[in-house]
Amino acid sequence: MPDTIAAVATGGTLSAIGIIRISGDGAIAAADKVFRPVNGTTPSDAESRRMQYGRLISAEGKLIDLCMCVTSRGPNSYTGEDTVEIHCHGSPIVLAEALRALFSHGVRQAEAGEFTKRAFLNGKMDLTQAEAVIDLIEAETPAAAQNAAGQLYGAVSVKLEPVYDALLDILAHFHAVIDYPDEDIDEFSMQGYLSTLRGVERSLSAMLSTHARSNIIRGGIPTAIVGRPNTGKSSLLNMLLGYDRAIVTDSPGTTRDTIEEKALLGGVLLRLIDTAGLREAEDAAEKLGVARTFDAVSRAGLVVLVFDGSEPLRGEDFDALRSIPQNVPVLAAINKSDLPHVVRDDELTELGVDFCRVCALTGDGFDALETAMINAFPELKVPTEGDIITNARQAEALSRAREGVARAIEAAAALFTPDAVSTDIESALEAIGEITGKTVRDEVVSRIFERFCVGK
Ligand code: GDP
Repeated sequence: MPDTIAAVATGGTLSAIGIIRISGDGAIAAADKVFRPVNGTTPSDAESRRMQYGRLISAEGKLIDLCMCVTSRGPNSYTGEDTVEIHCHGSPIVLAEALRALFSHGVRQAEAGEFTKRAFLNGKMDLTQAEAVIDLIEAETPAAAQNAAGQLYGAVSVKLEPVYDALLDILAHFHAVIDYPDEDIDEFSMQGYLSTLRGVERSLSAMLSTHARSNIIRGGIPTAIVGRPNTGKSSLLNMLLGYDRAIVTDSPGTTRDTIEEKALLGGVLLRLIDTAGLREAEDAAEKLGVARTFDAVSRAGLVVLVFDGSEPLRGEDFDALRSIPQNVPVLAAINKSDLPHVVRDDELTELGVDFCRVCALTGDGFDALETAMINAFPELKVPTEGDIITNARQAEALSRAREGVARAIEAAAALFTPDAVSTDIESALEAIGEITGKTVRDEVVSRIFERFCVGK
């Protein structure tokens, strides 16, 4: 019988409301000890999922708070066990006292992810859904949150189910023929299943191909801001971030190292990297800064090339443009639009890059620049409801499953014996089972839940 656990589910900072979660066979009995409804009943008397209002009582029997309490009887709860949530004021002191009271009645502190782990072990969710819980909590963009919500709803398992079933059918047929030779079972030929196997391979490939988008959706787009010194790169970064982050001076070469900050523009997460100005370095520190700039540019998903529109373009500007790899989208920000325009539109058109005129001091033209930055990633406009495989563990297992199926196809096409082919199908099934948690090892499960916060 699992013991009863409790934890603060709402984090450790001051907030209007704080929630304590209790789960396990003793959850309701423990709530009876620490919570007294004002109408003279107890949490044991409460209808499932119905709020009660009452007094929260300390280990010493003193009043801690006036608050709400809700019980959910298993299996109809998040963990599948009896669960109680106490919704009190979000004071860390109140929450700590309430936990102390519960611990004095035999409840223990929950470990990180233990509520969700119990939900998984009790069959309330599969492993992809449990992993989606943490992805949803940690999502940094609306698209990442939407994708995680879709997976919490079962998007990955729904796609894998028919694939798993198809492979299982093939194996079942194969074993039936071997184990019951006297029965009147259709003859087994792996070649007869080739088109099914090809369909399975296509489905796995389609799922796996979404993983390439996962970094942009979850981690954001590394966006290098480059240009020769003094064009206004740091000022532009500050304007995009909405506050002063980089040091702005009028002596060239101030940003000697790279600075990285995240900004959410139009739902797209950009990891903005302000770089040292690209020019002939005068000392060792600047040399290092310039080297890091080249490194940042080579890893960028987008480059914002900053020109000073109030001065003629010069060699360093063209060098900066040349330093950008061909496959990286580039946007030129022609800065200092408040000053007379010395750089002409036709010169810029000749360079073959999209450009916007901006003023990093006033913010003029930034709307257009931000729109152009977002438009550089049309794939982010495709809505996702859990279609993108963001989890590296799942992607790795998918890839193994696809390899198993590909080997089975090859072997079947080469007319290998059915038992040789069935081994490959078994390995593919095992890999798919690992994704949803059907065949996953205990230590892998523990590792997954270690990533969670306490109270989840
Ligand atoms: P960086 O070396 O490219 O990072 O350039 P900074 O952001 O440090 O700016 C260099 C100088 O240009 C500073 O004196 C800024 O105040 C000035 N500056 C930046 N943006 C503008 C702008 O849009 N208009 C004007 N007039 N000056 C700017």
